[in-house]
Amino acid sequence: MRAGFGYDAHRLAPGRPLVLGGVAIPFDRGLIGHSDADAATHAVIDAVLGAAAAGDCGSHFPASDPRFAGARSTDLLADAARVVRAAGFSIVNVDCTIVAQAPPLASHVPAMRAALAAAAGIALDQVSVKAKSPEGLGFAGTGEGIEAFATAMLEATT
Ligand code: MG
Repeated sequence: MRAGFGYDAHRLAPGRPLVLGGVAIPFDRGLIGHSDADAATHAVIDAVLGAAAAGDCGSHFPASDPRFAGARSTDLLADAARVVRAAGFSIVNVDCTIVAQAPPLASHVPAMRAALAAAAGIALDQVSVKAKSPEGLGFAGTGEGIEAFATAMLEATT
């Protein structure tokens, strides 16, 4: 068994779609980034790659590469899952916590779990997503940005 941890944060700004855990969420602001800036999925990617000691989101999908401009981060997660499978691992589970003052995310959690599970090629009951309010504290609390944390467990298949 191998445990991995991931973290990501992106800045919120007007005029961008808000995508978290592969789900487009209605809001008056969205996250800024080279890809769709889906901080939750990026944290999951880093957890999955980290568990296999197989690099990170930035090394596999660099922001300097025009191929990833506007990329759907769930497509990148699917690539990351392929990387760890090729390295001889299966994904046992993923757990992600999103920290956002707004918008309320609880109603979107089931769709996020489904999108992440589909991208990672695992079952719904292997994916957990939790949304936490930062209670007004820090950059997430002021609405300057949204951050996400994730863990992943991998099992060697060989
Ligand atoms: Mg990111």
